[in-house]
Amino acid sequence: MRQKIWISAAFAALLLLGILGSVLVLRKQEADRVEIVQDGTVLYELDLAGEEDRVFDVEYEGHVNRIEIRDHRIRVLEADCPDQVCVRAGWLDSAAPIVCLPHRLVIQAAEKEEELDAVAR
Ligand SMILES: [Zn+2]
Repeated sequence: MRQKIWISAAFAALLLLGILGSVLVLRKQEADRVEIVQDGTVLYELDLAGEEDRVFDVEYEGHVNRIEIRDHRIRVLEADCPDQVCVRAGWLDSAAPIVCLPHRLVIQAAEKEEELDAVAR
């Protein structure tokens, strides 16, 4: 009887590890796809894995966020917003989006709806 409990406990632990593992893998894949959203509208959807290094400007009512893509990462290089929160945020990581409140700009990991569907099926 006791052994049976151990076996089901071990099985449950394995199952949990499997779920955690697939969640981690999914999140890692998502980190390559980012979207740049301004005022609720998606301006750019980028696959960082396939992006060349470059710098480009996103304008908002005469103000500018200069965005840099380098080594398949993305950040706000410079901006003329008063708080500079977006610049200080540095490179985007999948956990936290880069937000420029004064310019209503968000750079965040894109959600992969196709993949989520595939998992649900
Ligand atoms: Zn800013």
